Amino acid sequence: MMPDPAHVIRASLITRSIKCGKPNCRCANGEGHQSLYLSSYYNGKTQLDSVPKAYKDKVSQCIKDYEDTTELLAELSCINLELFRRREIDL
Ligand SMILES: [Zn+2]
Repeated sequence: MMPDPAHVIRASLITRSIKCGKPNCRCANGEGHQSLYLSSYYNGKTQLDSVPKAYKDKVSQCIKDYEDTTELLAELSCINLELFRRREIDL
């Protein structure tokens, strides 16, 4: 089954450790705060978008849907090329 193209996202989920800058925060002397980001690359530019925790699972699904869709399209293209070679494709 083809995933719904309305929900595909081509990006990766990454975790970044950020220091908030408050001198009394526990992060000042140790690990920063873990934050989730979507890392994407379009038009020659990498962008990071903050992802609230509540969106993590849905965003993961969107990324998976994108990967599944491109895989399916590649398989379809392979079949269509073969049909074209046999002149059995309906164009
Ligand atoms: Zn902090």
